[in-house]
Amino acid sequence: MNILIKNACAILPEGYDNCCAVAIRNGEIAAVGTVPADFRADKTIDAKGKLLTPGFIDAHTHVHMTALRNRADDLPFTAWLFENVMPMEDTLTTQDAYWSVQLAIMELLMSGATCFLDMHMFPGTLGRATVDAGMRAVLSRGLTGGADDREGGARRIREAKQDMERFKDEKLLTFMVGPHAAYTCDEAYLKEVAALADELGVGIHTHLSESEDEQKTIRERYGCTPAEFYDRCGILRKNTVCAHCVQLNDSDMALLAARGTSVAHNAASNMKLGNGFADVPALMAHGVNVCLGTDSAASNNSLSMLREMELVSLIHKGTHRNATAASASEVFDMATKNGAKAVGLGDRVGEIKPGLRADLALFDMSSVGFFPIGDPKAALCYSSAGLRADTVLADGRVLLEHGEFKTIDAERVKFEIEKLDKRLSGKDLKK
Ligand SMILES: [Zn+2]
Repeated sequence: MNILIKNACAILPEGYDNCCAVAIRNGEIAAVGTVPADFRADKTIDAKGKLLTPGFIDAHTHVHMTALRNRADDLPFTAWLFENVMPMEDTLTTQDAYWSVQLAIMELLMSGATCFLDMHMFPGTLGRATVDAGMRAVLSRGLTGGADDREGGARRIREAKQDMERFKDEKLLTFMVGPHAAYTCDEAYLKEVAALADELGVGIHTHLSESEDEQKTIRERYGCTPAEFYDRCGILRKNTVCAHCVQLNDSDMALLAARGTSVAHNAASNMKLGNGFADVPALMAHGVNVCLGTDSAASNNSLSMLREMELVSLIHKGTHRNATAASASEVFDMATKNGAKAVGLGDRVGEIKPGLRADLALFDMSSVGFFPIGDPKAALCYSSAGLRADTVLADGRVLLEHGEFKTIDAERVKFEIEKLDKRLSGKDLKK
């Protein structure tokens, strides 16, 4: 199918184009600016008055947890995780997870996201729900294991491999291996996972240095920082994405930079759990590739990439007392091309240029609060409260059109989530 987007105000790698045309042929951006004379569109999107951006990349999520939104709030990190979220998560069925994922994708699309990097515990279901929605994703089955759970650790690795095999023909799904954290995997298991990534030729998606407790635990167990421990296990590498990285010291940052490891910054989640947040200007000064993640709706409690961009644009200016820290342009890059690079899709998405896949979002520039738009990147970072994407395409397929979901039955999703919500509340235990 050929799609022509015309008259858009586009954010291109070389700058802004106030009247831009983008020709999409079979999901690929065939031309930007001037449309080839022989291009015949099956569908034309007149984007007059709309801002066209590359789709945002949420580089750290747990989308199966979306139904747990607003259920464990204002709690310290360890109590939040081990006494509240994990027990609730354990009660989720595969059906619950399916609808949670679809709800997550609805929210991601509404904020202009077209791809997410996820760590999950529902092999089969995550891929199915994502494929059904037509969304792009990089999936990793969460892996935990150690001396006290060799069998469970081995089972989770088997499931990760089976999941990759199951969805190997799905062109919008790619995979990473997902060791959960330094405190839930022991050294032997992490080395096994690193070898698995080599064997499968995929990247690694993990959590690193999220809390002070983690720093303390790893220091006691191994006498080093979690980043140093990860490095000795072979986890830090060029195609590794480490979420959080709140507690990294200067030499940890230099280590990540030397290894070419990317950091997924999760500002809202880290702040809400009282963990602080990563020192992004320092990471950037070290040359680390920084991208953005929402983490889960159980800890954020939003999956809006726009909200994340706004927070990131503001908080580092405040803490560094420097109005030039985390500029709109830098934060826009974090949400687009840095994310693409981190998740291993730098040659496919993240920018609007010929040869890349058409993962694109359109925003109505006349939306109150967003208007007048002035500088488009600044508008997305500082004036996007309440803004919703108008139209979103992933791989050249329209998933959201004028605010309407084209691949997801939104009413059904809400109905199913409502049933689950009642069950979690104990109001509907018979069902
Ligand atoms: Zn996480």
